[in-house]
Parts: sequence; structure tokens; C-alpha cells
Amino acid sequence: DTAHQGFALTITVYYGFMLVSMLRLNKMVEQSVQLQFDNLDLLYQLGREKNHVEETNRTLELDIENRKAIEQRLMEEKIEAEVKIHQFTKLSVEDGLTKVMNRRGFNESFEQHWNQAIKYQDSLSLIMLDIDYFKNFNDYYGHPRGDEVLYKIAKTCTANVRKEMDLVTRYGGEEFVVILPKTGLNQACAVAQKLRTGLASLGIPHAESKVAKIVSASFGIASMIPQQTLKSADLLELVDQALYSAKSNGRNCVYPCDPLKPER
Ligand code: GH3
Ligand code: MG
Ligand code: MG
Repeated sequence: DTAHQGFALTITVYYGFMLVSMLRLNKMVEQSVQLQFDNLDLLYQLGREKNHVEETNRTLELDIENRKAIEQRLMEEKIEAEVKIHQFTKLSVEDGLTKVMNRRGFNESFEQHWNQAIKYQDSLSLIMLDIDYFKNFNDYYGHPRGDEVLYKIAKTCTANVRKEMDLVTRYGGEEFVVILPKTGLNQACAVAQKLRTGLASLGIPHAESKVAKIVSASFGIASMIPQQTLKSADLLELVDQALYSAKSNGRNCVYPCDPLKPER
């Protein structure tokens, strides 16, 4: 009858619905399980990635530390090299025996002072001194004693000039030249007299000198306000002539480049 047919239809529809629902549910459960597996897989991969990143980090940190150490070492080596360059530069212009500037240093410094004096139109003076009868000294007392004299004279000169301004140099064997910037002739002569008395007060015996019983020197002085039309060699020539005059006018004296008489 119609009631049973209706019931059967309802049941059929119900079972059909249930079947579809079951199938859907089954699929969902399957997907969810699959997702969980996927998640686990991802977690595992993430863990491995994390380890890898940590390992890379450690390597990088080590690398940074190494680089810092290398940088530090390079910095120290650079400072050492700079100190060495400074020492070599100093040594290349220093006279080994007397520890004052050598001829090379003189050439460089004199040229600088000359140009500076031209620029500011300052007086520039030179004192050139040469030990009297030094060959005789060496012959009599021996070369090592002669070397000691050279060292002492260099020290005396250095002690008797302006520390920051004047420059004592060993120009040749037993000749010294003092550069006196911003200094006129009279002032330079006064300095030379100071050097002469300083040398005398050392009282180094010289039995073979014909001008004194002690080691003495002759001093030539030259001074000028340098001009563009002149050369530094011109001032050097003047001082050399003055020294020659000091030698030929009795030695152990201070002789300015132009005045007629030597000062004693
Ligand atoms: P003058 O009064 O005319 O200057 O006579 P002098 O004997 O000093 O001059 P000369 O040019 O005849 O001799 C210079 C001497 O200086 C000769 C040389 O043995 C000496 N001399 C040069 N350089 C040195 C050095 O480095 N050490 C020593 N001990 N002597 C030196
Ligand atoms: Mg000489
Ligand atoms: Mg001499």
C-alpha cells in the first residue's frame, strides 16, 4: 500500500543519504590523517632546516671571529711596518757616528728651509764649522778617539742651538753645518761664538794643534734673505768661503761671510 511504499522510499532515501554522508566523512578522515602525516613530515623537515641554519650560524660566527683575528693581526703588522718605515726614514737621514742629521738629511732640510724663507722673506743663516788640525789629532790619538771627538762636538752643537728651530748636521768628515731659520748674521755669529766656547769648555787635549792646546774649530757664517733669483747653493758657497777665510785667518775663530775681520 501507499504507506509502505512511502516508508520504503523514505528508508531508501535515508540510507542513500547516510551512504553519501559516510563516504564524505570517510574522505574527510582520510584527508585529515593525510594532513597530519604531511604536518609531521613538514615538522621533520623544519627541524632539519633549523639544525642546518644553526650549523651555518656557528660556521659564520667562527668565520667572523677568524676574520676579526686576521684584521687585528693585519692592523698590528701595519703599525709595525709604519714604525719600521719611520725608523728606516730616520736612519737614512741620520749620521751613524754622531747621531745628528747626515748630508742627505741636510740637503733635504736645507732646501725646505730655503723655500720657506723665500716664501716668508725671512733671514736664513748657516754656520759651517770644521775641526782644526783634525788629521793631526787622528794621527796622534788614533781614529777611535777622533770619532769620540766628532760625537762630542755634535752633542755640544745640539745643546747650544734652539731645540725646535735650528738643525745641526754632519756635512762631511769633520765638518758640521747648522741651519738657523729666521736668523740674521749677527745672531748667527753669536750662536757660532757660543758653539766655539762650548767646544773649548769640553777641554779635549790636542797636542798636535797649532792654534790651541785643546780641540778647536773654525766657523764660517753666512746669512741672507733668500730670493727667487738665487739658489740655495749660493748661500752654501758663501758659508764655505767664510769658513775658508776663518781657516786662513788663523783658525779657532768665527768668520762672517762679508765683514773684513774675523771675530775672536
Ligand atoms: P784643518 O785645520 O785645515 O781643517 O786641518 P785638518 O787636519 O782638520 O783637515 P784635513 O782635511 O787635512 O783632515 C781632515 C781629517 O778629518 C782627516 C780625516 O782623518 C779626519 N776625519 C774625517 N772623517 C772622520 C771620521 O769619521 N772619524 C775620524 N776619526 N776622523 C775623520
Ligand atoms: Mg775639513
Ligand atoms: Mg779640519
